[in-house]
Amino acid sequence: MHLAHLLIRQARLAPDAPALFHGTARHATHGDWAARAAGLAQRLRAAGLQPGDRVLLCLRNHPRYLELLWGCWWAGLAVVPVNAKLHPREVEWIVGDAQPRWGVVSADVVDTALAGLPWQTEVDGDEADALLAPAADWRGVPVAERTPDDLAWLFYTSGTTGRPKGVMITVRNLLTMGLAYFSDVDAVTPADTMAYAAPQSHGAGLYSIPHLMAGARHVVPASGGVDAAELFGLGRALGPLSTFAAPTIVKRLVDHAEAAGLTPEDAARAFKTIVYGGAPMYVADIQRALRVMGPRFVQIYGQGETPMVATALARPHLCDAGHPRHLQRLASVGVAQAPVQVRVADPAGRPLPPGEPGEVLVRGDSVMAGYWRQPEASAAALRDGWLFTGDVGVLDEDGFLTLKDRSKDLLISGGSNVYPREVEEVLLTAPGVAEVAVVGAPDAEWGEVVVAFVVAAPGTPPTAAALDAHCLAQLARFKRPRRYVFVPALPKNAYGKVLKTALRAQCAAGAGT
Ligand code: AMP
Repeated sequence: MHLAHLLIRQARLAPDAPALFHGTARHATHGDWAARAAGLAQRLRAAGLQPGDRVLLCLRNHPRYLELLWGCWWAGLAVVPVNAKLHPREVEWIVGDAQPRWGVVSADVVDTALAGLPWQTEVDGDEADALLAPAADWRGVPVAERTPDDLAWLFYTSGTTGRPKGVMITVRNLLTMGLAYFSDVDAVTPADTMAYAAPQSHGAGLYSIPHLMAGARHVVPASGGVDAAELFGLGRALGPLSTFAAPTIVKRLVDHAEAAGLTPEDAARAFKTIVYGGAPMYVADIQRALRVMGPRFVQIYGQGETPMVATALARPHLCDAGHPRHLQRLASVGVAQAPVQVRVADPAGRPLPPGEPGEVLVRGDSVMAGYWRQPEASAAALRDGWLFTGDVGVLDEDGFLTLKDRSKDLLISGGSNVYPREVEEVLLTAPGVAEVAVVGAPDAEWGEVVVAFVVAAPGTPPTAAALDAHCLAQLARFKRPRRYVFVPALPKNAYGKVLKTALRAQCAAGAGT
């Protein structure tokens, strides 16, 4: 099966079935979707794009995202999805590395960063209408030949080096991810509706694949963002929604349900399944979520390098309160999803016995082909077919994996990854900064917030306000430090390496609050 054939199959089976919604408004049937995707494929071909070329999609959430995505796949192109919240400088870096031949960007993202790209268009408006004008006969538009190993999704993730790396996700990886939804997350029928509240440029957007496989409907909230009241309303209007939500979003939904006095039965009318993951979920939080909203939750653990597929904590395991190890299971990320093996290993990759912490390794058809044009980084991450995730975990006798820690320096704020080194590199270019170390501090609302420890250079010391302005000019807003702690020196070990554990302990003890 080819990704484009998933759409063709549904367009043949149910051409008139509503497929895409923008809020409660119907945006397209499966037939419209296929005709627009085929039209785009024709136009891109006519413009000279060849199978294997890359296309940048830097858009806020919109139903058109799915039309563009399948149009690109119809033409055999690889999509480079970029979070529209990134700073233009970050987008510029990705564009330079991925070298897309064409791009579609939301109006407010357009910047000189993208000036080198041959085509741009807004997602709303006449230009987009023309671009996605339906093919006269989509059945006659050939699908570009692709093999399962061909690149389909070039997803940029920041590595510990601080520079984003292009994760090469193939056709096979995406089809495997789609099928794993059915084996490990949920059954899907054409009556179901997948809602995109988290950015479509991330794993959440890829859940369009299993939902298209099953002929379900897709809805993008009219606000384009995450508004708990709006999502509950949409669910009541369109039928119970399935959605992916980072733990902070789950919290917002539960807060809303509680504040509005909703019962679990009310919640069931709005939501079928809420898949959570991407960051740690605290036991007390998931217990409260289950109490307030009922058995609507499934957890997944994955990463850009094996999108949405490593382990899953299934609904029965989340709800089996009578099990003697229920609490341990709630604190875990579940068991290996059907298409993969998961191992906890020592630094040489040798499996460790249950109960011993080590690095989490994943092997299977969801695992990336490697990093784009980075053979050394690829060889370090992929060894003997195993993906070294950088996460530390421990397996129990039943195969449940509990994550002990993330790779040391990554921190997650509001469900978004922040790589300290990237922030440190920016801060080090600010006047008056001699040394800097960035860590995450626990935060009730965001999970973690970014905290910068700064050693001032001799002379005029920098102010927190000046550093904030400096970061805002160069970094996505969510990456900038929320707190600055000015210190005379950073704690270091004998080799001169900054002891971030000591800084994290200072934060936990209230430094800089
Ligand atoms: P990304 O590549 O942006 O998807 O980030 C992946 C990282 O998020 C993983 O390597 C984990 O450290 C973390 N992560 C993903 N899912 C979970 C989860 N269910 N629980 C805890 N951490 C998670």
